[in-house]
Amino acid sequence: PSADALARAESLIALTPDFPKPGILFRDIAPMLADADALADVTAALAAPFDGEFDIVAGVEARGFLLAGTVAATARTGLLPIRKAGKTPHPTASVDYALEYDVATIEASGDLTGRRVLLVDDVLATGGTLAAALSLVERLGGTVAGVAVILELADLGGRARVPATHAVFTA
Ligand code: AMP
Repeated sequence: PSADALARAESLIALTPDFPKPGILFRDIAPMLADADALADVTAALAAPFDGEFDIVAGVEARGFLLAGTVAATARTGLLPIRKAGKTPHPTASVDYALEYDVATIEASGDLTGRRVLLVDDVLATGGTLAAALSLVERLGGTVAGVAVILELADLGGRARVPATHAVFTA
């Protein structure tokens, strides 16, 4: 996608101060997803650096699912949903982690032996979610081919925990 197309997509991310808690500037990708060109352009930009290097896309519930779905279908790869605790009947791996404004556990089932995994999410904040997802993928036997996010919040330093992340936008 062109720089202009990506700038237009970025302008569709909505900012809400003090949501869901005081002091958090919430970045809502819903208006961007609702726009046909922005959705296609951001999907392409997430996957472009890793073209041909992955055969399954993993996303963390809930917004990571949306992007994992668009990226996987576009690249014609498989999709691994990484779920919050208690929603997977027989998880084969489970990881606890801390969020910018919460604590959580993620789980998944299956075997990723021999699979090259692209991890995607909407926002890289503290990096806790993606660091946990990385270790979950490795515990399932997969190899992490890359990590891609729409928006990196640079001040929160998440990159220190997920160094090789490709961010389409940085704020
Ligand atoms: P973290 O684990 O701190 O990197 O947080 C990343 C996760 O929390 C992502 O899955 C985001 O969906 C969500 N998140 C954290 N901070 C924000 C924010 N300021 N705006 C929107 N989503 C956020």
